[in-house]
Amino acid sequence: MSEYRIALIGNPNVGKSTLFNALTGLKQHTGNWTGKTVEGAVGRFCYKNHVFSVTDLPGAYSLSSFSSDEAVTREAIVGGFDCAVIVLNANALRRNLYFALQALTVCRRAVVCLNLFDEAKKNGLTINTEQLKKELGVPVTESCAVKKRGLNEIKAAVKSVCEKPYNANHNRFYHGIDSMDTLNSGCTLGETAKRIYEECVVQSDTDRITQRTRKLDRLFTSRATGIPIMLLLCGVLFWITAVGANYPSEWLSALFNAVKTELKESAVLLNIPPFVSGLLIDGIYTTLGWVVAVMLPPMAIFFPLFSLIEDSGYMPRIAFNLDKLMHKCGAHGKQSLCMMMGLGCNACGVTGCRIIENKKERLIATVTNTFMPCNGKFPILIVIITMFFAGSGAFSSIKAALVLVAVLAFCVAVTLFASLLLSKTLLNGSSSGFALELPPYRKPRVIKTIVRSFLDRAVFVLGRAVAAAAPAGAVIWLCANINVGGASVLLHCTSFLDPFGRFLGLDGVIVMAFILGFPANETVIPIMLMSYMSCGTLQEVSDSAQLLCLLTQNGWTMTTAVCMLLMTVMHYPCATTCLTVKKETGSLKWTALSFVLPTVFGIISCAAVSHVMNIFA
Ligand code: GDP
Repeated sequence: MSEYRIALIGNPNVGKSTLFNALTGLKQHTGNWTGKTVEGAVGRFCYKNHVFSVTDLPGAYSLSSFSSDEAVTREAIVGGFDCAVIVLNANALRRNLYFALQALTVCRRAVVCLNLFDEAKKNGLTINTEQLKKELGVPVTESCAVKKRGLNEIKAAVKSVCEKPYNANHNRFYHGIDSMDTLNSGCTLGETAKRIYEECVVQSDTDRITQRTRKLDRLFTSRATGIPIMLLLCGVLFWITAVGANYPSEWLSALFNAVKTELKESAVLLNIPPFVSGLLIDGIYTTLGWVVAVMLPPMAIFFPLFSLIEDSGYMPRIAFNLDKLMHKCGAHGKQSLCMMMGLGCNACGVTGCRIIENKKERLIATVTNTFMPCNGKFPILIVIITMFFAGSGAFSSIKAALVLVAVLAFCVAVTLFASLLLSKTLLNGSSSGFALELPPYRKPRVIKTIVRSFLDRAVFVLGRAVAAAAPAGAVIWLCANINVGGASVLLHCTSFLDPFGRFLGLDGVIVMAFILGFPANETVIPIMLMSYMSCGTLQEVSDSAQLLCLLTQNGWTMTTAVCMLLMTVMHYPCATTCLTVKKETGSLKWTALSFVLPTVFGIISCAAVSHVMNIFA
């Protein structure tokens, strides 16, 4: 059985990843905005006794531009595949044909796939595919990747191209300078693309999708309504997350506590030594239970809702609304897209910075990404806000959502301030302009999006948290139960850190929880609670009232809560993000700066706020 290598290339947001998933059965990230695929993904499918290895490449508007994600695409085509599938948006063919002509200049062994054919039809476009085939000189197929339509036609066309012998006149791939000249002479290609479009496409109806998109954009991106709607949407998202997470969190912690009681009884019956059962049940199991009960419900709600917004096409509108502000701070407009990805996971946000072409602006976006609270930090924010800021009245959940929006606005402000600081000092340079594609609004595929984002994102992040929490729980339990000089190791450590913690408006336990939380922020709260519990009287914490009681017993005040919020949003990135920054920048210096900058911001603001609050108190 022979194996052929094929690549999916095309403009961003034309459905390459959706097509890749449909062909290979894999689950590459899709979403209705430009810049979400920055790394190639590889999968396989079999067709008529052949194996095809498929690479999904980052979208590129042009093969002569130089952003690092587009460079991946260009180099891959030059590097060599048996066939390139040039995926075009049938609904925006005039612009997409330009890319197709560029790609055909460097790679003649290709199939052109007119994807989003359903939208083109809805929009009243009639495309003469046969004529297009003659004009382009390669097979042209029609598809609707979301509905898995047209896949067999693509497979058959790819097979026929792969089986054709190589033609000396048609370079297998671009290797010569002449082709590059043609590639760069956008003018010639742009004239040719217009002619082909006019010959092959007839617009028989008014452009309904564009009209609808314009109407919605008037609402979502206008000066008067754009930012208020954005804040409202964030508020609703957080409110649903906070309210919806409450009940399952309570059920889960009740379940974990009941199982814990059973486990303890069984350990006694089985004569398991108290040291071993303590380590396993009180150390590892309790921490794991906490992480799952506290983190799973908000993530299971937040991620799917976020993915629905992503799929609807609203994300680039947020970037549009923030663009002016970003530029004033010396940052690139696309940085806001990286910030939104950072809301889910800072490591993803940092990788996403590849969409920024200018190196200095990319570094600013990379170094400041950690100021956006990732999903490891959200549970900390939710727990603290619910206990100290939301009260217990009828509107407590709305208050919690409003405070969370305020915290997020604060994070954006800090990111902008840090970007400004960097752009005026270490990363001084003029900021570059950019064109951001505002895709048409699309009805999200609700069930599929919810299921996929729950499985791919929530469960993935939870798995990472659990992997970090189990050893952290064991270490904390050991530290709390091994005595040296009449006191536990834990007490020695927290006492040592206490003066520094007090200086920051926190305490030694909180500082230690942040230090031990370096592998994953998700473990900060359970480590903190375990440390308090091993010193205090309360053995089981099942609701927020008991939790508040535990914290106040340990000296928490409003100042501690405010400083905890500040430290949560402003401290070093987790280990995974640090490694990602090192990988992306290739420099220890920038990795160190990504570590130091937020930590210094956190230390200064906590010290200042706690001292001011103490004076007023
Ligand atoms: P990529 O950036 O080229 O990889 O694009 P994606 O695969 O992420 O798809 C972009 C958006 O288009 C997503 O919201 C998809 O659900 C949607 N999409 C992809 N293919 C089709 C299609 O054939 N028809 C329709 N209506 N939507 C599609």
